[in-house]
Amino acid sequence: MSLTPAACSVHTHTGFCDGKNTLAEMAAAAYAAGVRYYGVSCHAHTPIPADEGAVLPRDMTAYRRVVLNLRAEYAGRMEVLLGLEWDSQSDVEPVGFDYWIGSVHYQKGGNGRFYAADWGEKQFIACRDELFGGDALAVAEGYFREVCRVAAKKPPILGHLDLITKLNAGNRFFDEAAPRYKAAALAALHAVDPAATLLEINTGGVSRGYRTEPYPALFLLEEWRRMGGRIILTSDAHSADTVVYGYGQSAALAKAAGFAKSTLLTLGGPVECAL
Ligand SMILES: [Zn+2]
Ligand SMILES: [Zn+2]
Repeated sequence: MSLTPAACSVHTHTGFCDGKNTLAEMAAAAYAAGVRYYGVSCHAHTPIPADEGAVLPRDMTAYRRVVLNLRAEYAGRMEVLLGLEWDSQSDVEPVGFDYWIGSVHYQKGGNGRFYAADWGEKQFIACRDELFGGDALAVAEGYFREVCRVAAKKPPILGHLDLITKLNAGNRFFDEAAPRYKAAALAALHAVDPAATLLEINTGGVSRGYRTEPYPALFLLEEWRRMGGRIILTSDAHSADTVVYGYGQSAALAKAAGFAKSTLLTLGGPVECAL
């Protein structure tokens, strides 16, 4: 059997963090959809207010145990990988996992407050006005400086590189074609080590109705290809019905950027397949 990118889905969330479905429900949906390498990547603990997103507890013992039990349950049918989506503001280290995804969701102000990039317009506006003097492009520049910090840790996967565009459909807050925006995004991309890190093409903003195109934008993917980077298709699924959402669209985007292959994560290591 030849592999396709949809055999692998390793950016997924469950009720252990902010996912809508249980781990068992997510795994069953993945298996039914043809996934053979299913990874769970709940949000690592980050000291944010409880009403601004659900994350794992600092002690991840129970999380590990339940995921490893699931691995035993699916043995011979589907590989279950133990992962973690680590945030640049997390107060735990991403060690002891099969893989981890390095992501930026927050900027921390000098006032100690966390401002989410993706939690809603009110948060974005507060970040713009309280941290950046009303300059929306500066919010994006601050976000990409955080991405540089994550990239320096050489995550196995870099999460949703340009998540800061999530609420910016129609350039509502800032112009994604502005030289300042592009320079900041490219600087973040250039901080990523193509030998150490996979860049994900993530449909989470599309499945949830925020964007019409996956992350990241085409100009960033084209540059990543020139850098010799490799990609992985992910859904960032927060519900069982989106485990392999939009992989066809992501494959088309990858091909438009000049990629011919995608990488799958397996328990035996990364494997490449044709797009
Ligand atoms: Zn994320
Ligand atoms: Zn995620």
